[in-house]
Amino acid sequence: MALQSYYDFASGKGFSVRLGSTKNILDKESGQKILVMKRLLCSKQGSPSLILSPSDGTRRKNGVSRCGCMANIKFKRIDRSDKWVTNTVNHDHNHPFTTLSKIRYLPINRSIYETFKVLFSFLAEVNVPVSK
Ligand SMILES: [Zn+2]
Repeated sequence: MALQSYYDFASGKGFSVRLGSTKNILDKESGQKILVMKRLLCSKQGSPSLILSPSDGTRRKNGVSRCGCMANIKFKRIDRSDKWVTNTVNHDHNHPFTTLSKIRYLPINRSIYETFKVLFSFLAEVNVPVSK
């Protein structure tokens, strides 16, 4: 599943994501809501005013500090199938990633290499350039 792959990809790269906006449509036949769009944001997305004042000079070691990072990825469901495609990808993080020594403390780091291959294959499907 593409979404899970992106979570794995993010923890492999050293940043974390959080769920952003979603969009549902109402299926007239079944009367059920169908999730058709999901956006994942870098966890540092948000207003810089939420973090410590600049005069402090120190950065919080734990927890997520936001710095207005605009990186995000948008997934779209193909028709009403279980297939999702990446619709918009923005990998422009405005902050350094977690250092390698910290990555092993992140919850998901198993078979990251396999995950990358999966992720890259679905990115390739929608012609999204994959940078190293
Ligand atoms: Zn970021």
